[in-house]
Amino acid sequence: MPDGRYTEGPREKCGVVGVSLEGRDAARPLYYALYALQHRGQESAGIVTHDGFQQHSHVEMGLVGDAFSENDLESLAGSVGIGHVRYPTAGSVDTCCAQPFSVSFKSGSLGLSHNGNLVNADEVRDELAAKGHAFTSDGDTEVIAHDLARNLLEADLIRAVKRTMSRIHGSYSLTIAHDDTVLGVRDPLGNRPLCIGKLDDGYMIASESAAIDVLDGELVRDVEPGELVVLGPNGNDFDSYRLIERENSANCFFEHVYFARPDSRIDGHLVYDVRRELGRKLWAESGIETDVVLPVPDSGRAFASGYAEAAQDDGADVEFAEGLMKNRYVGRTFIMPTQDARERAVRLKLNPIRDVIEGKTVTVIDDSIVRGTTSTQLVQLLRDVGAEAVHLRIGAPAIIAPCYMGIDMASRDELIAAGRDTEEIRETVASDSLSYLSIDAIADALESSRADLCLGCVTGQYPYDIDGESTDRDVVRPVIDGLEAGTGVADD
Ligand code: SF4
Repeated sequence: MPDGRYTEGPREKCGVVGVSLEGRDAARPLYYALYALQHRGQESAGIVTHDGFQQHSHVEMGLVGDAFSENDLESLAGSVGIGHVRYPTAGSVDTCCAQPFSVSFKSGSLGLSHNGNLVNADEVRDELAAKGHAFTSDGDTEVIAHDLARNLLEADLIRAVKRTMSRIHGSYSLTIAHDDTVLGVRDPLGNRPLCIGKLDDGYMIASESAAIDVLDGELVRDVEPGELVVLGPNGNDFDSYRLIERENSANCFFEHVYFARPDSRIDGHLVYDVRRELGRKLWAESGIETDVVLPVPDSGRAFASGYAEAAQDDGADVEFAEGLMKNRYVGRTFIMPTQDARERAVRLKLNPIRDVIEGKTVTVIDDSIVRGTTSTQLVQLLRDVGAEAVHLRIGAPAIIAPCYMGIDMASRDELIAAGRDTEEIRETVASDSLSYLSIDAIADALESSRADLCLGCVTGQYPYDIDGESTDRDVVRPVIDGLEAGTGVADD
């Protein structure tokens, strides 16, 4: 990659949170919640609060622990606020896209945290620019903020949000601070997660329930697709408005496979349980008897334990072993200026334990294969320490297409499975065998129909109307005034 950045897997680009409390400042709970969401974005972190008179904001590049000093937290006055962690696409690492995005306008102030990606942001931006709005970034979050601010000049809060939701098309889970009111919004297909939590002295909205746990709160429920949640003042209850209803949702199945924390509960399922069940299904679909089952740490661990347990239930004489040790001080991303150095990255991150592997046949369980660099290097590493055979089992279907909904996956050119069948991929990674999990197994484990999942990256058909790509359903894409836009069916 041109900037020397090497990424081993897909990257979630954002985590969002919002709280409304009674009688204490929101900054510190937001800060702790962002810590719990750090895995969703490590490039920048920010908090916006409101003290009843004015908005306060602190947004900084870096990890949550580095982005806020004690003084920063002290300066974020007010018992309501929102927060954000972000992982921008490679090459756009700068503060202009860090969030929450805040804007002041005639009838108040807005702070906005966004997880997801709009596919019609350019159309909405062009139309707003033609009406005199000036934009400071090319980010889609600013488009939502300007559109909402404009609608708030003409309509009450609920109508204004509905109007914006009917104009934007794509994936979005939002937390919004409109003056001292905190809102949560999930797009009509519920692509990215969002949930509501109850605290001792208030309520919160967060990308994942792990952020509620860290504040000793209780998960109330997920925000429904197309729902607006308005947290009451002084931590009092919340109101719910189902603003847009669709026949089907399009939850991102990859949240369960890879992005979300295993201790989070998303759309009714504990992520850890889902991963173990996917591991069991992987054994049922493509189990192969070997001496040892090895997880690729960390995300392959729950899959591998489910796989090994199902194998043992079937009477297979197989050992589950942690035979790959992860260097926890190497982050998800390496700065690797040359191809040679990039290839060394796997060795920096994962070290095999020779005693567990030498002279044995091993099955390695991973959650996904994106570019194939990691898998190829891993298979070679295991052979180097004496594995007699290396079988690869993947807890998701092959990734054949990019994601346009807020996941930095890779382009089609970079995806090892794009245009290749499983045998060709096996030859490339040089394993003795390779199997992926089926799409039906994913749907079964999530107790969902395929029609309620986003499967774009594994089918090449998307739930949104994306230029140059095909869809898996009748897509409703709004017409933005005066512009030809997709299928031309308005949302409201
Ligand atoms: S394309 Fe894949 S990663 Fe992107 S939202 Fe859909 S399922 Fe998730």
